[in-house]
Amino acid sequence: MTAMGISIFDLFSIGIGPSSSHTLGPMRAANAFNALLRADNQLDAVTIVTVELYGSLALTGKGHGTDKAIILGLLGYEADSIDPSIIADALDKINKNHSIQLAGEHTIAFEPDRHLIYYSHQTLPQHTNGLRFTAWSHEDCLRSETYFSVGGGFIVHETDFNCPGEHRPHPYPFDTAAELFDHCQNQNSSIADIMMANEYAWRPENEVREGVLRIKNMMLESIQTGLHTEGTLPGGLNVERRAPTLYARLLKNDPGKNKAVHVFTWLNAYAMAVNEENAAGNRIVTAPTNGAAGIVPAVMQYLCDTCPDISDDILLQYLLTAAAIASLYKKKASISGAEMGCQGEVGVACSMAAGALAAVSGGNLRQVENAAEIGMEHHLGLTCDPIAGLVQIPCIERNGIAAVQAVNAANLALAEERCCKIRLDNIIATMRATGEAMSTSFKETSLDGLAKYSGLSPDPLSVNVPEC
Ligand code: SF4
Repeated sequence: MTAMGISIFDLFSIGIGPSSSHTLGPMRAANAFNALLRADNQLDAVTIVTVELYGSLALTGKGHGTDKAIILGLLGYEADSIDPSIIADALDKINKNHSIQLAGEHTIAFEPDRHLIYYSHQTLPQHTNGLRFTAWSHEDCLRSETYFSVGGGFIVHETDFNCPGEHRPHPYPFDTAAELFDHCQNQNSSIADIMMANEYAWRPENEVREGVLRIKNMMLESIQTGLHTEGTLPGGLNVERRAPTLYARLLKNDPGKNKAVHVFTWLNAYAMAVNEENAAGNRIVTAPTNGAAGIVPAVMQYLCDTCPDISDDILLQYLLTAAAIASLYKKKASISGAEMGCQGEVGVACSMAAGALAAVSGGNLRQVENAAEIGMEHHLGLTCDPIAGLVQIPCIERNGIAAVQAVNAANLALAEERCCKIRLDNIIATMRATGEAMSTSFKETSLDGLAKYSGLSPDPLSVNVPEC
């Protein structure tokens, strides 16, 4: 079997908001371009870099932060290590000086209005999120590279677009839930064990464990930061952060976190806290995308609340199981809102959290499968139509609702012993078919649905393309 190996670190990556397709992917592409220039000793010869943006990346434009992400990437900043508090100053300096330090080491002229070129009415044939970097030495083109930001922060160079993906040797390859469950049965192992065994083929054991713990800590930290940060989110919609208010009310009414009547509100507050951090451009973990980043952490925090003595090992199992489920969607459908609508982002995150919660709650394989299936089944057809192209309305609230649904899906699956009528592989195929049949206006343009009829979009023709 030669299944593509997707690591937990591909699916859960530490980055900044608001969009994995429109922030994280373009930033990674800029760094990848710098790396090629450096590898071929071309950096010093560069006098100008132009970046052409196509399709939804062009439509997103300045309002969605793609321009800033590209500039930060050209400067050599990486999404997982940049300090969000330096971003405003770094960008200010470029606007004043009309120059950048390419890859942090070579000064070239750069004016965002001239050197970032938006082709709003053109889409490259391979994918809606295309961007081309060209390095010039005066009039001569030194090199030109085209990348696609395909969801969840993943980027693909144009020469690799039709390749099935990087083949990393690993002991338990799987593309489908059926193959994954076969490994579990044959090895008498859990989904998390299988995922971990594959990770160990790619990295030393201590590195895997430390890396997953770092993800866990970052997820829980982003909840705390969001719960304690008040204010208005950027972008012009004047959306107030709601998580701190919910949190203050919960502290008053349920300080011990033990009243069943408040469970949903805690979940809402946790998920919304993360997504408000994302909308503010702060640090979060993609899970599996930025726009859906609140669901997996919220359910993990719920686990910590309900089992105060929970060990890191259990939380690692939770994250590994969630990642295994996400990898099935990535391989057989897509986790990109541009391709699948919101079912591919919030729906997938709900499925991940539901299956993972069932697994660490003692569910057998069928119950885990059933939980993941239920988590997606009731998101089928969910459109992506955020107002003004900002990852705020309905995205933030939608994460809270989906976190509650994930817990509900796990509870329902755990309450029954019966085999699920619909298998996880079938629901993934259904999601893909539904996404492919969905009108483009509901999955990448903000020109329809809530964005069109809410009465809140500032100018229906100038909205940004949503993607997270
Ligand atoms: S509505 Fe669109 S932008 Fe918002 S979370 Fe869903 S996929 Fe992301």
